[in-house]
Amino acid sequence: MALIVQKYGGTSVGSIERIEAVAEKIIGFREKGDDVVVVVSAMSGETNRLTALALNVMEQPTPREMDVLLATGEQVTIALLCMALIKRGCGARSFTGGQVRILTDESHTKARIREIDSNLILTQLEKGDVVVVAGFQGVDEYGNITTLGRGGSDTTAVALAVALSAAECQIYTDVKGVYTTDPRVVQDARLLKSITFEEMLELASLGAKVLQIRSVEFAGKYKVPLRVLSTFEEGEGTLISLEEEIDMEDPAIAGIAFERDEAKLTVAGVPDVPGIAYTVIGPVSDAGIEVDVIVQNAGVEGTNDITFTVKRAESDEAKKILDKIAKSIDAREVVLDKKVCKVSLVGVGMRSHAGIASRMFKALADENINIQIITTSEIKISVVIDEKYLELAVRALHSAFELGDPDYGKNPNQA
Ligand code: ADP
Ligand code: ASP
Ligand code: MG
Repeated sequence: MALIVQKYGGTSVGSIERIEAVAEKIIGFREKGDDVVVVVSAMSGETNRLTALALNVMEQPTPREMDVLLATGEQVTIALLCMALIKRGCGARSFTGGQVRILTDESHTKARIREIDSNLILTQLEKGDVVVVAGFQGVDEYGNITTLGRGGSDTTAVALAVALSAAECQIYTDVKGVYTTDPRVVQDARLLKSITFEEMLELASLGAKVLQIRSVEFAGKYKVPLRVLSTFEEGEGTLISLEEEIDMEDPAIAGIAFERDEAKLTVAGVPDVPGIAYTVIGPVSDAGIEVDVIVQNAGVEGTNDITFTVKRAESDEAKKILDKIAKSIDAREVVLDKKVCKVSLVGVGMRSHAGIASRMFKALADENINIQIITTSEIKISVVIDEKYLELAVRALHSAFELGDPDYGKNPNQA
C-alpha cells in the first residue's frame, strides 16, 4: 500500500460531470489499496474570472485582497469533489491551505512555501479518508491567505508529496504528459516517456506551462518521483526522471518551449562608461520587474544600446522607469516593442552535440524569420522574434530537429 499525491488541474475539474469523473478515478485508486491525497485547482477559467472582477474594481488590486479573492476558486472545487466522493460512499474531507497549515512567506500573489504541517492530513488518512487539499494557496505566519502564483497547484502537490514522503506525485492534466512541444501548437508533437529534471526545469522556466517551475524545483531538490498524466485517457504519462546519466545516443533536443507575452525595451545611445548596465537595469529589477534576455552592443561612437525583455504586462511600467533614467543619463531614446515572443530549444544533449545553434538559425532563416536577440546557456538556446512568427518558428524547429511522432496520423483515433 502506497501513499500517492494526485493533482487535478482546472480543465480536469472544469464541470460537475468532470468532478464526478475525477471522484470515480480516485475511488479506483482507493480500491487498489493506496492512500490518496488529492490537490485540486479551481474550475478552468475561474481564476481568470476572479482576476477580471478585481480589475473592474481597482486598476491595481491590493495583493492581500487579491489573494483572499483568488483562493476562493480552489475552495469551491475541494468541497464539490468531497461531496462527489462521499455520495459514492468514499470517506473524504476537504482542507484549505490555511487549514492544513501550508505556511508561506508574505509575498502575496507569488508566495513561496516554507513549511507544511502534515499532522492533520495524516490523522485523516488514518481514518481511511481521502484527503482533498486546495491547491495554489497557503497562509503566512500572521494568518493572511496567500497564493503561490499562476499554476501554483502543481507546487502545492509536490510540496505535499515531500512533506508526506509520498511514493509518487501525479499531476493529472488535459494532455497525456510532457510533449516535445505544446501539442496544441504542433500536432505531431511526441509524448515523452521521461525527461530529466534539468530539462523540465528549463522548459518550465522558458514558457511550457504544463508544470509550474517551483514544482519542478521542489521535486528535483527533494527527489520526489513526479509524473504528468492525462485525467481523461489511460497511459503512463511522462516521468520527470531523477537519472543523472545521459545517453550519448539521446537526441540533442528534448523539447521546444515558447513564451508569447514578451516585450522588448531598448535604451539607445547610453554613454559607454563602467556601471551603465547597472544604472539602466538596476531600477527596473528593484521595482520587482523580472528582466529576461539582456544584450548590450556598441551603438554610435562612444555610446551603447542596451536591450532586454520583460513580461508584456510589466512593460509599460518598465518603460516609465527607463524614460526617467534615460533623461538623467542623457540617453538618446527608449523604444518599447510589445510584439515579440521567445522561442527556446532545450536539451541536455546539447552538451555533447555540436552545431545545434547553426541548425536552429538555418531553420528560421529558411522561413524568413528575423532573429532579434539570441541567448544561449549550456542546455538551451533562445531567440526573440516577432510574435507573428511564433507558431511558424516552433513548427519549423520541431521538424528541423525531427522531434515529431513517427507514428503520427497512423492511429485513426488520434486527434
Ligand atoms: P492544468 O489546468 O491541468 O494545470 P495547464 O493548462 O496548466 O493544465 O497545463 C497543461 C497545458 O500545458 C496543456 O494543455 C498544453 O497546452 C500546455 N503545454 C505547453 N507545453 C507543453 C508541453 N511541452 N507538453 C505538454 N503540454 C504542454
Ligand atoms: N487556479 C490557479 C491558476 O489558474 C492555480 C492552478 O490552477 O494551478 O493559475
Ligand atoms: Mg497548470
